[in-house]
Amino acid sequence: MTSGDDSKPLLRSDVTVELVKSSASDSDVLFAARVSTAGEQSLDELSKDPERSKGLINYLMRDRHGSPFEHNSMTFFISAPIFVFREFMRHRVGWSYNEESGRYRELQPVFYVPGESRKLVQQGRPGKYVFVEGTPAQHATVHDVLTESYEQAYAAYQKLLAEGVAREVARAALPVGLYSSMYATCNARSLMHFLGLRTQHELAKVPSFPQREIEMVGEKMEAEWAELMPLTHAAFNANGRVAP
Ligand SMILES: Cc1cc2nc3c(=O)[nH]c(=O)nc-3n(C[C@H](O)[C@H](O)[C@H](O)COP(=O)(O)OP(=O)(O)OC[C@H]3O[C@@H](n4cnc5c(N)ncnc54)[C@H](O)[C@@H]3O)c2cc1C
Repeated sequence: MTSGDDSKPLLRSDVTVELVKSSASDSDVLFAARVSTAGEQSLDELSKDPERSKGLINYLMRDRHGSPFEHNSMTFFISAPIFVFREFMRHRVGWSYNEESGRYRELQPVFYVPGESRKLVQQGRPGKYVFVEGTPAQHATVHDVLTESYEQAYAAYQKLLAEGVAREVARAALPVGLYSSMYATCNARSLMHFLGLRTQHELAKVPSFPQREIEMVGEKMEAEWAELMPLTHAAFNANGRVAP
């Protein structure tokens, strides 16, 4: 949605995740695990005995032998609101991040508004709550109030830039609903830990209650990973979605 005027906010309700680079397969897990008992391994371990390989991956997951799941790499390009990245970067172990700079480039007016399916209302007390649908009136108010606030904030940012104020100072006027982008690189073990905390799933042994917007990112990363490492992904689900 845009007016065609460059200073008017472009409103988005989605997040995007692109797998830009990867070296990740189920064979990487087997390759690393079998060195324990058999020394140097071939890179195509999976084809040797597929049923035994599947069993080994499941055993490693079940008994939480985690390190064989680290010998792989996936780099994602993620576009999401800043409040999602603020939560994302709490994941410190097995992750590398590079985010676009608000110091070196002018930030574009792209902002988040919840989509129609986003549950708006929290009911219950801290630690024990659920989210329920908002009314059409609440959705309309959220849309209108956020849009107005974004327009004001971006106009303030532009005013400061026009006065010659540095981008790194002017950006203080912008809210956390602004979109940013980053590369995030992880391995299967660190991704599983992330997914265990940032997605809700019927197979999860330990339930989590993530904010929906970071969960949307997690779901897209999981779909990419599941294609690269289907046996590892299946074993993660079969063992309660707890990272080994
Ligand atoms: C639903 C939800 C709500 C949350 N709410 C809040 C909140 O209100 N406020 C807030 O500040 N955060 C909040 N968080 C963030 C949370 O506390 C974690 O920072 C975040 O989930 C990252 O988890 P992690 O530390 O396990 O991951 P990583 O940083 O990737 O660490 C992975 C693992 O390494 C080990 N590890 C890493 N660092 C250390 C260390 N310094 N010492 C010992 N062991 C270490 C731990 O075993 C850890 O589980 C929330 C997270 C979730 C999922």
